[in-house]
Amino acid sequence: MTIELVQMKKKRTGSSISSSSSDEDVSTLVPLKKLAPGKLYNVLEHMKLSCEQLQQNGYPFWDPSAKQAVIPLTVNNQRDFVAGNDLFRKCARCRKGFSLNADGTMAPGRCVYHHRPKWDPVQRRPLLTCCNKPGPSSGCIEEEHHVFNTAWEDTLWEFMVTPSARGETDFRSKKVYGLDCELIHTLNGLEVARVSLVNMKGKVVLDTFVLPTYEVISYNSTFSGVTERDMENAISLKACRLQLFQYINSETLLVGHSLESDLKALRLVHHNVIDTSVLFSIRKPDVTIKLSLQTLAKEKLGKTIQNAKCGHSSIEDSITCLELLELRPFVAVN
Ligand SMILES: [Zn+2]
Ligand SMILES: [Zn+2]
Repeated sequence: MTIELVQMKKKRTGSSISSSSSDEDVSTLVPLKKLAPGKLYNVLEHMKLSCEQLQQNGYPFWDPSAKQAVIPLTVNNQRDFVAGNDLFRKCARCRKGFSLNADGTMAPGRCVYHHRPKWDPVQRRPLLTCCNKPGPSSGCIEEEHHVFNTAWEDTLWEFMVTPSARGETDFRSKKVYGLDCELIHTLNGLEVARVSLVNMKGKVVLDTFVLPTYEVISYNSTFSGVTERDMENAISLKACRLQLFQYINSETLLVGHSLESDLKALRLVHHNVIDTSVLFSIRKPDVTIKLSLQTLAKEKLGKTIQNAKCGHSSIEDSITCLELLELRPFVAVN
């Protein structure tokens, strides 16, 4: 499949672009946040991931016969969910391999890593923005435990599909929200610890801390901004999903950056998605490069995000994803 980028400002011809947006006069673009909900949905609908793109990017699918989620294998991803007898894990920080104990617990292991390595595409090597060390080195931070992203396969049974619309007047349908989660490391890989849902006007409609199901290995506070103390106000994942379902159904358009990670952590199957990591990806003949939200915010919006010493904010990230849509520069055409 060849994917080409077509500039929306070009005259729309042919069948490659959804007719739902064809009535939009690009010379008088109205800010998205000023559009009425129904119109907003129509303008954004063509940016949705296709079924093929959902698969390519590892979004969860629902297997009705097995009554569980299925995660497509992507080119770069290792398996996120493994069988109960597969105790091998790879540390998400230092990349070392190790084994869990047979009961799923973990012995301490020296984890030495750099916490802010960034890939330099020009020099084709990591830049160590954490400590600015010039050459290769094992790390500038040492922790007592490794961390990992892999969860047990039986977690796939805990997934839910977002609820269907309750008739044609369901107010949740055709709504657009930015969604972002902060994730922490537990004995069952990455679990959600905070969920934020923001509407197109930048208003936070839901922001809640979520209790992990398994023992926490690391709150990943430098990045997640979540601390053990936040858990005093946390609700269960089940309660969190019920709160989410007050605003979203299967027809709600969710906007996020690499939203497949958030949906996997929420144990949720949802296919009405705009993914800014895909929308703004750089496609080369042999490789597709996804830019971080921080890089996109800087390059496209001139905005500095994820810079706080106390970690990221899922509200800030959600708002940034929605702001990126205001650019409406490209549409991916299969
Ligand atoms: Zn490690
Ligand atoms: Zn470092």
